[in-house]
Amino acid sequence: MTIGWHFDNSYSKLSNNFKEEIKPTPVDNPELVILNKELANNLNLDFSKIDKKKLSEIFSGNSLPEGTKSIAQAYAGHQFGHFTMLGDGRAVLLGEHLVNKNKRFDIQFKGSGKTSFSRGGDGRAVLGPMLREYIISEAIHALNIPTTRSLAVVKTGEKVVRESLLQGAILTRVATSHIRVGTFQYIAATQNIDDLKTLVNYTINRHYPEIKSSKTKALDLLNLVMEKQCQLVVDWMRVGFIHGVMNTDNMAISGETIDYGPCAFMDHYDPKTVFSSIDKFGRYAFSNQPPITKWNLARFAECLIPLIDKNENTSIKIASEIIDNFQNIYEEKWLNMMRDKLGLFGEDINDKKLIKDLLKLMEKNKSDYTNTFYNLMDIKNNIYKDKNFIIWINNWKKRINSNKTSNQKQIELMKKSNPVVIPRNHKVEEALAAAEEGNFEVVINLLSILKKPYDLQKNSADYQSPPLLSDQKYQTFCGT
Ligand code: AMP
Ligand code: MG
Repeated sequence: MTIGWHFDNSYSKLSNNFKEEIKPTPVDNPELVILNKELANNLNLDFSKIDKKKLSEIFSGNSLPEGTKSIAQAYAGHQFGHFTMLGDGRAVLLGEHLVNKNKRFDIQFKGSGKTSFSRGGDGRAVLGPMLREYIISEAIHALNIPTTRSLAVVKTGEKVVRESLLQGAILTRVATSHIRVGTFQYIAATQNIDDLKTLVNYTINRHYPEIKSSKTKALDLLNLVMEKQCQLVVDWMRVGFIHGVMNTDNMAISGETIDYGPCAFMDHYDPKTVFSSIDKFGRYAFSNQPPITKWNLARFAECLIPLIDKNENTSIKIASEIIDNFQNIYEEKWLNMMRDKLGLFGEDINDKKLIKDLLKLMEKNKSDYTNTFYNLMDIKNNIYKDKNFIIWINNWKKRINSNKTSNQKQIELMKKSNPVVIPRNHKVEEALAAAEEGNFEVVINLLSILKKPYDLQKNSADYQSPPLLSDQKYQTFCGT
């Protein structure tokens, strides 16, 4: 009976400066609670003939697939601005699974026990946060935003000590790689130039082969990563996603959303929205996400300085010019994204004002971010009676009339950009509370609706309403 694993372990072949060889710590009594069959299928994996007991053994790490050579990866990171040596303290990379011999995916267990990077932590994870990562990462994927994926969650049958005793769990995470800005920071901090070159070459081979034979690799890499990260943050802004902990260790070089901890979607529009209980000063607030992306990219650029030019000052000058251009690239992408959300084709000199006027009105009226754009797609359904809003609608209609395309094209564009459903915080909490009691049906139903976020489905209405005003002080906690 073959599942179809094809492990290749290129990262584990790097020197021990990059990682520690380690196996997941076995658990007492694993029980599979969810398996992503669709993702398994995309990965050419077939679990259909494996019974639940065996699946539980596999996804807990008690029984390792053949061909794995598991490791914990070393990395560092600026956490809320402070530099720290980190690493996989509760995760183990089983290896890279090859699909059709050429597509490479990291298969990682999160919550799989202590490693040398655990720094006093227990190496374990809890059911609620692992299911939360599963739900939100799959939702982000369905929203057409690059992200790590979630293949499975098992309960370990062990209790984990947090503020109380909680159910332990392990998430199987799939990523095009787990190379982070923090990985570069770790290697740069060791000041080993050969290791830095190795990491640059490894990253380029894996993610950006188009610059493999470039003479200015480090510079090209910086430009490509900036482009990817810029696009990613624009996508987050499009759907009202707040990552919550954009430390440099939580920023993937691939441009995928990674490390779902205290993330959440915004309900009513407020650029200052922060959900994370530990983000006291709003460093990672909704509207701070673009400048923080730029800040993180500057940390990435610093790592590459020794490879950009022989002369350090020249390197710094070149890298700074690239980073300084972030604002221009972002502004343009953001403006085009907002044009799409409003169904505007072409460019008009007043577009930016039109968009900003809407956002100002939304902020003032505490309008729901998702539903405002949803309602604009069906103007008959317009629920806003505000006088200024009606004036805005008229201006918007005038601008739409200058589109050189049909009404239908305009609606199509809007439908691709504006989700009908997002994983609303109160819905996610409801599903996690049921799962905690052993009822996984609510999670399954939520996942099913989130699979097609741009389509109006039979029971979409149950998932479209924002929380009651009394529920609006939502807080998230760093998911350990
Ligand atoms: P995160 O907040 O998940 O991005 O993790 C930040 C750092 O803390 C990483 O190095 C993690 O591996 C580590 N970490 C988080 N939780 C634990 C835990 N329970 N045990 C050991 N290390 C942990
Ligand atoms: Mg992290």
